[in-house]
Amino acid sequence: MFDNLSDRLGSVFDKLKGRGALSEQDVRDAMREVRIALLEADVALPVVRRFIDAVTEKAIGQDVLRSVTPGQQVVKIVNDELIEMLGGEEPATLNLDAKPPVVIMMVGLQGSGKTTSTAKIAKLLKEKHGKKALMASLDVNRPAAQEQLAVLGQQASVATLPIIAGQQPVDIARRAMESARLQSADVLLLDTAGRLHVDEALMAEMKAVAGVSTPTEVLLVVDSLTGQDAVNVAKSFTDEVPLTGVVLTRMDGDARGGAALSMRFVTGKPIKFAGTGEKLDAIEAFDAKRVAGRILGMGDVVSLVEKAAAAVNQEDAEALARKMAKGQFDLDDLRMQLRQMQNMGGLGMLAGMMPGMKKAKAAMASSGMDDKVLVHMDAIIGSMTRKERANPALLNAKRKKRVAAGSGRQVQEVNKVLKMHQEMSRAMKQIKKMGGLKGLGALFG
Ligand code: GDP
Repeated sequence: MFDNLSDRLGSVFDKLKGRGALSEQDVRDAMREVRIALLEADVALPVVRRFIDAVTEKAIGQDVLRSVTPGQQVVKIVNDELIEMLGGEEPATLNLDAKPPVVIMMVGLQGSGKTTSTAKIAKLLKEKHGKKALMASLDVNRPAAQEQLAVLGQQASVATLPIIAGQQPVDIARRAMESARLQSADVLLLDTAGRLHVDEALMAEMKAVAGVSTPTEVLLVVDSLTGQDAVNVAKSFTDEVPLTGVVLTRMDGDARGGAALSMRFVTGKPIKFAGTGEKLDAIEAFDAKRVAGRILGMGDVVSLVEKAAAAVNQEDAEALARKMAKGQFDLDDLRMQLRQMQNMGGLGMLAGMMPGMKKAKAAMASSGMDDKVLVHMDAIIGSMTRKERANPALLNAKRKKRVAAGSGRQVQEVNKVLKMHQEMSRAMKQIKKMGGLKGLGALFG
């Protein structure tokens, strides 16, 4: 029935419009929806629990911003917390300041995208950071793994350590260190062996390699599509090797984004990169904001809330509230509301940002309303006398004609403005009965 979490929250909070603050029960009701959404996004249960607790604590007792519905406000709290738990807005970077060659050790299961990611990162360091890189494959288990890295190295124009058949991982690591020094490479990337499962032999090998190469970065490569499995893998690696970060591959195929949240939580390590395709430049710094948006499955509700907070003048809102309390919503007030809508970027932009607005926009479009209409309506109201604006009943046929001529519009359009005013006055009276919602919510509710 609902497409996404923000729609769900909208419906939970529809009942609450007009309240001053969010009560504990309101928030708990909403958190049920958040829980379902997170589980559907494949977030691990303990992570869901921790997340819900954190959000509940923040949301209870929050004042509801006047111009925004409570649902949207909770969506913002949820979103902010998601970003926080995903590692914050600032992307985590590689530590490249150590004495060269800086060693980056790549670990992970077979098929996770480890070799591809090694080449992607080497290419990125070379092209974006001007680093001289050397890559070495320590994978002696998987047939042709070393050759695969050599091919990728050629594609990326990054040097790879020549292959010596039969050499074991720790010896390859030593040779790679030596070679990197001789070549004055800035960075040495070690692509370690993967297995199908985490086992003792694999872990012992990782530790031995780390022992001889003292890596500055140990990056765990995990496939975001494997969801819960990826989380278990991450857990076993974290217990054994000193990870410094995570590379999440196949983010191009993961519409849900839940693995990222679990991964960050379970490893406690920053997600440094997201793999977004098979090509060697399909890698990005991990963007917590974007992934949070994906988990919520929403348009940019957050920036809407921020815009609304900035656009709505507190004093105007209070003056309007006083008038409403007396049942006096006049055409000046309507004009103010129209201007607020324009300040917020017009109907099109609002619709793009708020999932719930799509319906409203369709309705407005079918009644011939678009952004230009806001401007026209403003002009029509501007052509009325102050008395007429305060008391629209004065507008008889003759006066309407004058207003239409003055604003360069048709009499029908003047009628539309008056009709909208009537409907809004009626809506506002109802809202007043329910407890007094101020501002834009009345237009959009
Ligand atoms: P490894 O066994 O861990 O070294 O895995 P590989 O690097 O060989 O990758 C396995 C497959 O996954 C290859 O076909 C890659 O092209 C593909 N792959 C790796 N990363 C990504 C990614 O971010 N997105 C997509 N769509 N495919 C990827």
